[in-house]
Amino acid sequence: MRIVSIGECMVELAPLSEPGIFRLGYAGDTFNTAWYLRRLLPPENVVAYFTAVGTDETSARLLASMAAAGIETRHIVQMPDRTVGLYLIELRNGERSFTYWRGQSAARTLAADPARLAQALSGARLAYLSGITLAILSPGDRASLLDVLRDFRASGGLVGFDPNLRPRLWPSPAEMCAAIMQAAGCSDIVLPSFEDEAAFFADTTPEATLTRYAGAGVADIVVKNGAGPMLARLGGQVVQLAPPPVAEVVDTTAAGDSFNAGFLAAHLTGAVPLAALAQGAQVAAQVIGARGALVDIPPADARLSAGI
Ligand code: AMP
Repeated sequence: MRIVSIGECMVELAPLSEPGIFRLGYAGDTFNTAWYLRRLLPPENVVAYFTAVGTDETSARLLASMAAAGIETRHIVQMPDRTVGLYLIELRNGERSFTYWRGQSAARTLAADPARLAQALSGARLAYLSGITLAILSPGDRASLLDVLRDFRASGGLVGFDPNLRPRLWPSPAEMCAAIMQAAGCSDIVLPSFEDEAAFFADTTPEATLTRYAGAGVADIVVKNGAGPMLARLGGQVVQLAPPPVAEVVDTTAAGDSFNAGFLAAHLTGAVPLAALAQGAQVAAQVIGARGALVDIPPADARLSAGI
């Protein structure tokens, strides 16, 4: 099985305990999901990332870091006149705040060559993207991306989509909501988070979120809900599952991204709905119990032998 995740991976500068000293890493919602999928799926499966980066040293190091994590990078576009985006995490009174420099990032051009994107998806079982993938593109490139996804589905591929609503990346909430519903209409699996959906689509319950995406023609839907029960419709079956309690929530960064990887890894390898939701929640629980977006969860083989 080949899975291709599409989006933006940025350089991350995270503070260490000594003031003014930062650790350099790489993260971004769709990249985080790819990273966890790579950890969770047996090695015979290919997890690829599709984006655009520069031709500079920083971009080369980012590509090398992805490859070292076992993620296929060979279709990634390299733009000579751009480089990768950057964000800085700061701790103020124990609260994390984020500053971004991504307005001109190379990833914004990832759909400028639709043929190249189509080639990257060729033979894949799943193409995965998020609302952030859509937000960083021009309206024209966004339309091209959706055209490629429609062709991909017509040739038998599945599209997975996390709406990941980020109003600051969009000209207006109305434009964001319209683009999200359009992309949902091109998707087989949609993985929204209820808190965001309630804020921008005025859904009053997780059932309302599920009904809205079902109305857009989405077959499989998982509505995540923080510590509350997830509500899903999978293969026509409606199920609900409470995530395991987490003794100490250390850092919720990448909770949804890691949930998606845990869920998709199980769902795509034939797990029944409740088992797939349970794996997603279990991976997310491990991730929010530790600091950072990329937490060193056990790889696939260790999980199998531990009976997870
Ligand atoms: P969210 O996107 O915030 O709805 O979270 C995604 C997933 O992370 C949820 O479906 C849960 O599995 C897990 N999660 C998030 N926050 C918590 C929490 N406080 N306690 C337990 N699990 C959580």
